[in-house]
Amino acid sequence: MMLVKLSEHKNVISKNIGVYMFPRSIFILFVSIFLNFSSQSSFSAEEDHDIKLTFLGTGAPRPSPTRYGPSILLEAGETKILVDAGPGMRQRIFQAGGFELLTDINTVLITHLHFDHTIELPNLWLTGWLFGRKTNMKVYGPEGTAAFMDHFERAFDWDLRYRYLTNVHKEGSDLITEDVKPGVFYNQNGVKITAFDVAHLPLNPETEELLGLEGATFGYRVDYKGRSVIFSGDTRSLPGSKIIEMSKGVDVLIHETQIPYPGESKEAKLANVSMIVHSTPAQVAHVFNEARPRLGIYSHIIPPETTRDELLSMTDYDGRMEVAEDLMTLMIGDEITIGKAKNLDNQTFLESDAVDN
Ligand SMILES: [Zn+2]
Repeated sequence: MMLVKLSEHKNVISKNIGVYMFPRSIFILFVSIFLNFSSQSSFSAEEDHDIKLTFLGTGAPRPSPTRYGPSILLEAGETKILVDAGPGMRQRIFQAGGFELLTDINTVLITHLHFDHTIELPNLWLTGWLFGRKTNMKVYGPEGTAAFMDHFERAFDWDLRYRYLTNVHKEGSDLITEDVKPGVFYNQNGVKITAFDVAHLPLNPETEELLGLEGATFGYRVDYKGRSVIFSGDTRSLPGSKIIEMSKGVDVLIHETQIPYPGESKEAKLANVSMIVHSTPAQVAHVFNEARPRLGIYSHIIPPETTRDELLSMTDYDGRMEVAEDLMTLMIGDEITIGKAKNLDNQTFLESDAVDN
């Protein structure tokens, strides 16, 4: 596009120069300065990054019109990876990137099997496929993820067979799942992903002993071109948190939080039941202070109405930090730039685009 514009412009310049009889050398100098300037100005912050993050949902299980369920899109080169699939994620993807993005995502990491991290998975899997995706969706998660996803496949079996009979393409309709263990489990196109255990399995609140539920809850570290991002998953944060060890030298550390309900009222007791498996801002401050990321980020915020100022004032940390909002973007390169995804709410869709993809 830019090249076409430049060459059109160049033609106009040539004609004018013909009229005024400028020496050819001056003309070449002028054009080269113009081209040089144009290419520099088109090299915006949008392109000057190695990893891009889009926060699709920054809330938790409770419905909120401003903070949808937890889900973050990571883009590294040609690779697009979704981390968690919380309620409303499909709508946010549509807002941020329209049908093109909806049909482009075929890799998902699940931190754990709570519904606020998984319930939108079948929606993206089926929507992306129906509107044109022809590669199968691949889902990675802790023990139990493959069995979990198998239920989704069986639940939508009638829907799939219905659409096959009505000539919807079969390619891309499989859901491929892999239960992973802590450690590096993905290394493709320069993107390396490491899973690590975090403390979110249920505990006895009196004794803090594990209640014996099987499975695991993960955080993830993604490395690409010397840049790195940590996704804490859901976790309480103890002084020896694995997140601190995994976060050394990290560019962006994304951490969940839950604000304790003040007092001893019945409401406070009920609201604070889940504190034992989540992290207070004071605990996150400890993690940030130990890890010293280039940027600390709050996402998965409980309760969702907590304001940015409240959260920042509760966090005793002097490094750079921010509170994520739905559709906020981060460009991670030499600089880390905070932005906002463009809103494509009003785009139209052509059936012929999907059929011919
Ligand atoms: Zn959660």
